[in-house]
Amino acid sequence: APLIELEHVSKVFGTGTGAVTAIDDLSLGIEAGQIFGVIGYSGAGKSTLVRLINALEPVTSGRVLVDGVDLSTLGERELRTVRAGIGMIFQQFNLLRSRTVFGNVAYPLKIAGWAKEERRRRVAELLNFVGIAEKAWSYPDQLSGGQKQRVGIARALATNPKILLADESTSALDPDTTAEVLRLLKRVNSELGVTIVVITHEMDVVREIADRVAVLDSGRLVEEGTVYDVFSAP
Ligand code: ADP
Ligand code: ADP
Repeated sequence: APLIELEHVSKVFGTGTGAVTAIDDLSLGIEAGQIFGVIGYSGAGKSTLVRLINALEPVTSGRVLVDGVDLSTLGERELRTVRAGIGMIFQQFNLLRSRTVFGNVAYPLKIAGWAKEERRRRVAELLNFVGIAEKAWSYPDQLSGGQKQRVGIARALATNPKILLADESTSALDPDTTAEVLRLLKRVNSELGVTIVVITHEMDVVREIADRVAVLDSGRLVEEGTVYDVFSAP
């Protein structure tokens, strides 16, 4: 079975005449080990999809399964465990300005209760992996966009998640820096075995990195297939 599975999922915000259908009868399977692209214009439902997979919002109907488990059957405590297995990176990086690079990457480990010495070792390993060890004692404001996103990736991977959700993670970066970050994400996938979901409005990003791609429009799945199939349509 796929690692992430959506079965006839709908998400409606509000009620009556004010109701907005953000996701409309969406079915989708994302296999373990894939880099899966989700592409769509603003308002297509991409952010909502991220929040449904990450168990931050309940579905209105249908089912979201992560690792075979229907999220709607879980309590708040179990949902926190599911969320801990999913790393997130963001367009605006969402780093804590008051903490150093080291402190930002150590933060989720602290929350997860790792001991100080283990945290130190794990953070050093992560900073080496993303190639930013020399910036450990810098603050986010002292970093370039690409460096900030490397820190974001290190933080997202800290607790060894199986899944990484990348929400517009290169949209604030210039083309060269975007290419650099995409190369790093490919290494996260191939060397660490992390399944990556790349959500973006940038077609080139999906074309560059994804194995498979889903195209969303007004909350509906309009196309799904290999990058080759979707981008070389007649
Ligand atoms: P995207 O990320 O592709 O831009 P979103 O998932 O943010 O799309 O939004 C899809 C639709 O759902 C939009 O019409 C948006 O205004 C609406 N929407 C998203 N979140 C909410 C919410 N919390 N309450 C009401 N409407 C929402
Ligand atoms: P981003 O795309 O960075 O998530 P947005 O401005 O699209 O930022 O959305 C910020 C938050 O507001 C999200 O949690 C989203 O679900 C919610 N949201 C989006 N559109 C609406 C809306 N029309 N009404 C209420 N909440 C919304």
